[in-house]
Amino acid sequence: MTLLTAKRILVTGGAGFLGSHLCERLLNDGHDVLCVDNYFTGNKNNILHLLDNPHFELMRHDITFPLYVEVDEIYNLACPASPIHYQHDPVQTTKTCVHGAINMLGLAKRVGAKIFQASTSEVYGDPNVHPQPESYWGHVNPTGTRSCYDEGKRCAETLFFDYYRQHKLRIKVGRIFNTYGPRMHPNDGRVVSNFIVQALQDQPITIYGDGSQTRSFCYVDNLIEAFVRLMDTDDGFLGPVNLGNPVEFTIRQLAEQVIALTGSRSELVHKPLPADDPLQRKPDITLARERLGWNPDVQLQDGLVKTIAYFKDLLS
Ligand code: NAD
Ligand code: UDP
Ligand code: UDP
Repeated sequence: MTLLTAKRILVTGGAGFLGSHLCERLLNDGHDVLCVDNYFTGNKNNILHLLDNPHFELMRHDITFPLYVEVDEIYNLACPASPIHYQHDPVQTTKTCVHGAINMLGLAKRVGAKIFQASTSEVYGDPNVHPQPESYWGHVNPTGTRSCYDEGKRCAETLFFDYYRQHKLRIKVGRIFNTYGPRMHPNDGRVVSNFIVQALQDQPITIYGDGSQTRSFCYVDNLIEAFVRLMDTDDGFLGPVNLGNPVEFTIRQLAEQVIALTGSRSELVHKPLPADDPLQRKPDITLARERLGWNPDVQLQDGLVKTIAYFKDLLS
């Protein structure tokens, strides 16, 4: 049955980790979903279970090229998110962030769609304000190996606000902090997937640096709830809004939790800290709590249990 409130929603990067969860959520809410992806880091397996749904449509397309479709809302998630992936072809990463944003904003302008941008905590760089509120302008290296992503995402935010001011587009910008959960890619290189895969295989757990650097980890279901709440706000624009779980852990604490929960015999080994690796990161989510009534309530331990179960199944 098609609901009267059903919308046609475009999700770019819909075959990726976050995108696949979002497509699933929007279909469950009764909407028609068009998933666009070039499969650079995404995977058809992530959305295989949705292909039989008549309200789901899949299109292979690179958003650095124009896209002409008719939709009511756009969630722009397309972009590799893990450092090893976004540094693999840095020019393409910047193009995806910048040309991709221009094309999706041009599309939103033509059809009058509301548009959400998946921005990132990386816009704060290696922050010297802690925790990070949205008003902090960041501390970003413009020419380093992470810059293609950090500066690309910063430029995308600029474009969103200029399309709002210049063309009166309805925009929503969420700055996403580290998020984890089922459907992360096992070779993604991100810390949660690396540690779980290593622990399940009794391989050494690779801590970069001394492990005292911090991150705050949000479980995927909590994050998707925030995306939908942000998109559903009435305001002409809202954002940037920090979206993340503010409970902060050191990387060493994360390794110890993963070992305890998997019962692994893995040892901890240390590897060099990558260039420009932020020493600390923790969102100030006052704005999201106030404007979205959002509370990321999944504790790290509970989220890790679900994520470990996913990887156990995948690796078996
Ligand atoms: P992911 O790599 O799993 O998903 C990204 C998807 O975008 C993939 O399916 C990939 O194939 C697709 N893609 C990449 N370039 C494309 C292009 N030019 N055209 C079409 N599709 C393209 O990553 P994710 O973790 O799901 O991240 C989704 C979004 O959220 C990204 O924009 C990322 O920057 C942002 N984000 C994620 C996190 C996190 O912790 N997961 C944190 C901050 C921001
Ligand atoms: N665009 C798109 N789909 C549309 C409309 C526009 O991909 O439905 C692209 C188009 O290629 C253009 C970009 O979005 O380059 C920006 O569009 P806008 O209308 O803002 O600018 P202009 O067309 O004047 O460059
Ligand atoms: N990290 C680590 N071991 C790994 C992968 C990552 O110690 O096997 C560290 C990394 O150096 C960083 C933190 O974990 O300090 C988070 O890394 P991730 O790539 O997941 O995300 P980001 O750096 O973008 O926050």
